[in-house]
Amino acid sequence: MNFDYSAEQLMLRKTVRDFTDKEIMPYIGEWDAKGYFNKELLKKLAHLGLMGVCIPEKYGGSGMDYNALAIVCEELERGDTAFRTAVSVHTGLNSMSILQWGTEEQKQKYLIPQAKGDKIGAFGLTEPGAGSDVASLQSTAKKEGEYYVLNGQKTWISLCDTADHFLVFAYTDKSKKHHGISAFIVERTMDGFTSKATKGKLGIRAGNTGELFFDQVKVPKENLVGKEGEGFKIAMAALDNGRFTVAAGACGQIMACLEASTEYCHERETFGKEIGRHQLVQQMIAKMEAGLQMSRLLVYRAGELKNKGVRNTRETSLAKWQACDFANQSADDAVQIHGAYGYSNEYPVERYLRNSKAPVIYEGTREIHTIMQAEYALGYRKDKPLNKMLPAWEG
Ligand SMILES: Cc1cc2nc3c(=O)[nH]c(=O)nc-3n(C[C@H](O)[C@H](O)[C@H](O)COP(=O)(O)OP(=O)(O)OC[C@H]3O[C@@H](n4cnc5c(N)ncnc54)[C@H](O)[C@@H]3O)c2cc1C
Repeated sequence: MNFDYSAEQLMLRKTVRDFTDKEIMPYIGEWDAKGYFNKELLKKLAHLGLMGVCIPEKYGGSGMDYNALAIVCEELERGDTAFRTAVSVHTGLNSMSILQWGTEEQKQKYLIPQAKGDKIGAFGLTEPGAGSDVASLQSTAKKEGEYYVLNGQKTWISLCDTADHFLVFAYTDKSKKHHGISAFIVERTMDGFTSKATKGKLGIRAGNTGELFFDQVKVPKENLVGKEGEGFKIAMAALDNGRFTVAAGACGQIMACLEASTEYCHERETFGKEIGRHQLVQQMIAKMEAGLQMSRLLVYRAGELKNKGVRNTRETSLAKWQACDFANQSADDAVQIHGAYGYSNEYPVERYLRNSKAPVIYEGTREIHTIMQAEYALGYRKDKPLNKMLPAWEG
């Protein structure tokens, strides 16, 4: 058991913090108000080696451990949830899935440019009628000669207008229920593919979220990821990685709430003293601090299991559930501490509150994780190693 950051991890945290302070913080209020996603920042992140931080060097990444990815996500979400979400879907849900399940040809063609940040990846699972209940998805992929012909629609897809490659899930055999779902790499340039951003979101307004449409899209059979029928398993394994990044990002959201709130506590006075001197305000600050420290322990524990190449569905689910709940509560308390000023965009905390809601919904809602944890505790759910595990960190 080692609770120390390595020198490399400390350096990484400083790099991402400096990046966030310089490239995100000064502009984010305006981007959020305009609903503008600055995709140029992804190129800058790529330049720093942050779009494939935990992908092995031989596949174009920076070759750091999985907790390095957590540090990147923490620091980015301290700036804004939109940029952490971009890393979550690009690295956590897409690139790490290709690393885990892809053929050598798929790694050469798709993973290397993604890890370098030359191409952007995203993840298309959710449909209008299928969120938590993945098996009720309607998209189909019918084998015709050298291709699978893909038809259907996805919704609430992060980076819908930005990504070059999508990991998409569709039924190849509906009669087999979730054992009939398969995973495909779909390129934006394939005929019959279109996307459309969603307007009117509560939060993550500086991000890009929306719909994907597949109309007779001919996907080469080489783009099938894993075997036919392995899609459900691949999606769930991808979520083990995506959820890890969401949990880490939630720690960054709590950090941001703490920073804004402690500063305001020293600045604002009522009844002749700083509001930080009132015990009920201190209680909210203390809950944020406890939430941050507990969430980090859960996140880094899950990261250590990933480093060892061990199945971590249970630990990652717990980290995601708890960290996102703490972040949502922290953001609510941060607004409370700011009083009426917290209710306006003069201060960033109203954006934190709006942003902190989606992570309680995506990558497994609060309720889904609650059920999972109860089932593990009751012995109804047990995990076995997968036929292909995420590779252990080679150090
Ligand atoms: C900003 C944002 C970005 C997203 N990005 C992506 C993305 O990149 N790719 C992608 O594929 N998806 C993405 N999603 C979709 C997200 O993963 C889904 O919204 C999520 O899985 C929940 O599905 P749903 O919205 O259909 O809710 P539903 O599954 O319809 O759930 C509705 C409510 O019922 C509850 N519920 C459902 N089943 C149960 C049960 N068995 N027991 C108790 N309660 C239950 C839920 O907890 C929830 O409160 C994104 C969503 C958002 C908001």
